[in-house]
Amino acid sequence: MELNGKTIIITGASSGIGAATAKKLASKGANVVLTARREERLKELKAEIEKDGGKALVVSADVTKKEDFENIIKKTKAEFESIDGLVNNAGLMPLSYVKNLHTDEWNTMVDVNIKGVLNGVAAVLPTMKEQKSGHIVNISSSAGNKIYPGGAVYCATKAAVKMFTEGLRMELAPNFGIKATSIEPGAVETELTETITDEEIKEGFASSLGDISQLQAQDIADAIYYALSQPARANINEVYIMPTEQPQ
Ligand code: NDP
Repeated sequence: MELNGKTIIITGASSGIGAATAKKLASKGANVVLTARREERLKELKAEIEKDGGKALVVSADVTKKEDFENIIKKTKAEFESIDGLVNNAGLMPLSYVKNLHTDEWNTMVDVNIKGVLNGVAAVLPTMKEQKSGHIVNISSSAGNKIYPGGAVYCATKAAVKMFTEGLRMELAPNFGIKATSIEPGAVETELTETITDEEIKEGFASSLGDISQLQAQDIADAIYYALSQPARANINEVYIMPTEQPQ
C-alpha cells in the first residue's frame, strides 16, 4: 500500500526496532502512533519525527492491558481517520535455563510476547473489518523457527506469534482484505538482552555471538516497510532475516 497519509500503530516504539520502524514509516508519509510504557522516550521520538516533517501521536500503554489498547484506538481515531496498520513489536527476552525456574519471567514473556500481540489484534480488528482493509505485522524472531538451550520459553512465545500470524492471514486476508506478516529476525543490536537476569546465561550470552556484525534496527524497519508497501494483491507472509555472519 501507499503509506502516505495511512495510520500505523507501533507497539514498543520507545527503543530498538519499534523506534526505527516509526521513523522509517513516518519518513514515508505515514501517521505513526507511538506506544510503549516509557512515555518520555516516546515524546522524544515524536519530536524527532516532527522535526523531519512527519506526523506522530504518543499514547503510553502496557500491551498486557486491554484497556490501554482501547485507549490507543480511541485516541488514534480522534486524531487520524483510519487504522491502516498495526506493528505488534513490543516484546522482551529474559532468557533463562528451565532448571533455574525463573517462573515470573516465563509468565511475563507469555503476557507480553503472546497475549500482548493478541490484545493488539483484538483492538484493531473491529475497525479493520469495517474498513475491509488493514495490515497486521507481528514481530516473531528467528527464535520462532529454532530452539536453543536457555531460550525454551522465549522461543515458544515467538513460535506462537509466527503460527498465530499465519492463522490470521488465512482467516482475514481472503475474507476481509486484512493482511498479516510475521517478521523473524536473527540477532539485532538493541536493548533486548538487558532483561536477562539468569547469571548462567549472562556469562555465556555475550560471548556466544562472537564479534559478528549484528543486524541494526534500521534493517528490520526496512523489512517491515517492504511488507507494508506491497500492492493490495500481495501478502508477504514471512520475512526471515539473519545477520550474514550468524550461522544459526
Ligand atoms: P528493545 O528492548 O529495544 O524494545 C522492546 C520494546 O518493547 C520497548 O520499546 C519496550 O518499551 C517494549 N515493551 C516491553 N514490555 C512492554 C509492555 N508490557 N507494554 C508495552 N511495551 C513493552 O528490543 P528490540 O527492539 O530488539 O525488540 C523488539 C521486538 O523484536 C521484540 O518483540 C523482540 O522479541 C523482537 N526481536 C528482537 C531481536 C533482537 O535480536 N533484538 C531478534 C528477533 C526479534 P517500554 O519498556 O517503554 O514499555
